[in-house]
Amino acid sequence: MTPPRLLLGCIADDFTGASDLANNLVRSGMRVVQTIGVPTAPLGAGVDAVVVALKSRTNPAGQAVAQSLAALAWLQAQGAQQIYFKYCSTFDSTAQGNIGPVTEALMDALGADFTIATPAFPDNNRTVFKGHLFAGDALLNESGMQNHPLTPMTDANLVRVLQAQVQRVVGLIDYRTVASSSEAVRERIAQLRATGVGVAVVDAISNDDLMRLGPALKDMPLVTAGSGVAIGLAQNFGISPSLEASELPPASGWKAVVSGSCSLATNRQVQAFITAGWPALALDPLRMANGEDVATQALAWAAPELKDGPVLVYSSAESAAVKAIQQQLGAESAGALVERTLAAVAQGLVALGVRQLVVAGGETSGACVQALGITQMQIGPQIAPGVPWCFAQLPEEAGGDSGRGLHITLKSGNFGGDDFFTHAFTTLA
Ligand code: ADP
Repeated sequence: MTPPRLLLGCIADDFTGASDLANNLVRSGMRVVQTIGVPTAPLGAGVDAVVVALKSRTNPAGQAVAQSLAALAWLQAQGAQQIYFKYCSTFDSTAQGNIGPVTEALMDALGADFTIATPAFPDNNRTVFKGHLFAGDALLNESGMQNHPLTPMTDANLVRVLQAQVQRVVGLIDYRTVASSSEAVRERIAQLRATGVGVAVVDAISNDDLMRLGPALKDMPLVTAGSGVAIGLAQNFGISPSLEASELPPASGWKAVVSGSCSLATNRQVQAFITAGWPALALDPLRMANGEDVATQALAWAAPELKDGPVLVYSSAESAAVKAIQQQLGAESAGALVERTLAAVAQGLVALGVRQLVVAGGETSGACVQALGITQMQIGPQIAPGVPWCFAQLPEEAGGDSGRGLHITLKSGNFGGDDFFTHAFTTLA
């Protein structure tokens, strides 16, 4: 049997980051499927790019490498012509990796002697200049990322950061070259390869830079980047932006939002939803901890409201309230308890006939998607930068009958405007 025509095989080191990449690929005209973990079955027809979503960012490097190599093997079996390793636009990694170790393992497996690395994503205010990463107007190490609890970034010089993580020599393709032409980038790559450089950080401060970079990456077996570089790759495969790429089956069924994110943007979105007069129910983690069946109570509340929906079920709270809960229950167990409850709510809502579901929160999304038994999602139109609608076929036990599916969007904490929870549904109608 001929393998399907998979152009780009992507490996993302976290879940909402995978959607962010998929969203950029769809906008550039590719038909994209995102998988949750490494699939066990072969890919269906009519897909240009697959994004395998891993949760490997903060794992020990050995585990991240093993997961990434498993994803690579599956993508190669699907005939992927080029591999894209996607990491965060703030280059999140610990001193031990995982960006460097995963990059080198993929290079070894692909027999690649050269690749690039750049988290530049100008649409999201991430730019790289002279090898230094800026988040908005601040250098990475002054942007707040220096205080990240898991991956503190204390050096904005990506050449130095990456060099500490890899055996190969790290070089730089600077902004003058990238601003000049694709040909100039190609020449610079040849120059760097000739001097034994294995990985080059690439400057990019605008989408035009990324569009010029794209053609220079045409024959590179492996590209490593944030989601930004994706916008310049479709042209290499003769694909240009089209509405068809983001087409999903028509939406139907009830509408609901499940929110476990306590990020500032999400809290504003919850407030805007309530202020607009839509039905909303807050869940109290202490009642969950007391053994009350909060999920069943929430579903009993939601059932009669759905016909007038969308409805919102949320645990989102301001930071002082979250801290108080964490002090009583412990941060990790409070998080796990809330995630379990919200996942049960999402499952119950779908069983009640919800077919358009917004989930807010990265971890919350993971828990909900898992509870719903979703393993694969087709990527549709963008709702807000980095957040697309997706369509998943439901397994029968999640309330699906044959041929029915769920429109779902997974919004990471700080994405989306204040009206995201209502705006999302208007983009599907
Ligand atoms: P974000 O994308 O905003 O970081 P996540 O879903 O990834 O959102 O993380 C939010 C975490 O906070 C989850 O583990 C969630 O279960 C937990 N959580 C949600 N609401 C509360 C709350 N009221 N008190 C304590 N923890 C909460």
